[in-house]
Amino acid sequence: MSFKELGLAEPLLQAIVDAGYETPTPIQKQAIPAVMLGGDLLAGAQTGTGKTAGFVLPMLHRLMARPAVKDARGKSPVRALILTPTRELAAQVEESVRIYGKHAKLSSMVMFGGVGMQPQIDRLKRGVDILVATPGRLLDHHQQRTLDLSHVEIFVLDEADRMLDMGFIHDIKKVLAIVPKQKQSLLFSATFSDEIKTLADRLLNSPQVIEV
Ligand code: AMP
Repeated sequence: MSFKELGLAEPLLQAIVDAGYETPTPIQKQAIPAVMLGGDLLAGAQTGTGKTAGFVLPMLHRLMARPAVKDARGKSPVRALILTPTRELAAQVEESVRIYGKHAKLSSMVMFGGVGMQPQIDRLKRGVDILVATPGRLLDHHQQRTLDLSHVEIFVLDEADRMLDMGFIHDIKKVLAIVPKQKQSLLFSATFSDEIKTLADRLLNSPQVIEV
C-alpha cells in the first residue's frame, strides 16, 4: 500500500515525496484511511512510529477538501486543534504540519506558555486553520476572548497518557467544554490506563481502534 493508493490529495503526495518518504508506516496505513473517512479514532502508538504524519496528513486532506468559512474579518477560524502535553512536542507537531502542508494553502500556528501573549494574539488575528497548543495557554487565550474555538472540526489529543500524567485532565475537560460537540476526534496514546479509557469514552463516538 503506497501513499498514492491511500488517496491523499496531490499537494500532500508532493510533500511526502519532498520529505523522502517511500512507504507509509504501519500506523499510517491504518490511521490515514480511518481519519480520511471522518470517523473518530483511538490509536495506540509510541513516538517514532510515524504517528504524527498518521494524523496530520489525513487532517490536511479533509481540511483541503472543504473550503474554510471566513469570519467577519475575512480570516480563517481555527478548524483543527491539536493538543500536546509539552511545548517541545507542540513545536515538533507544528513543524510537521508545515512540512506536510507546504503545498496546501492552509495556515498553522503553535501556541504555548512561558512566552508573551501579545505576539500570539497578533498571529491569531491573521487567521489560523490549524492550531497546535498546550492546554494552559490555550485556555488563557480563550478566557481573554482572544481565541475562538467554535469552528473546530477536527480535534486531536496527542500523547494523551503523558497529558494525564502531567495533571492536565481538568484542562482537557475545560477544552472539551469549549469546542463544538460535533467534530472528528482523534486520541493518541502510548498506553491505555483506565483513565485513558474513561477519557476516550467521553471524547470519542464509536471510534476505530488501532494499535501498532
Ligand atoms: P513520529 O513517530 O511521528 O514522531 O515520527 C518519527 C519520524 O519518522 C519522524 O522523523 C518522521 O519524519 C519519520 N517518518 C514518518 N513517516 C515516515 C515514512 N512513511 N517514511 C519514512 N520516515 C517517516
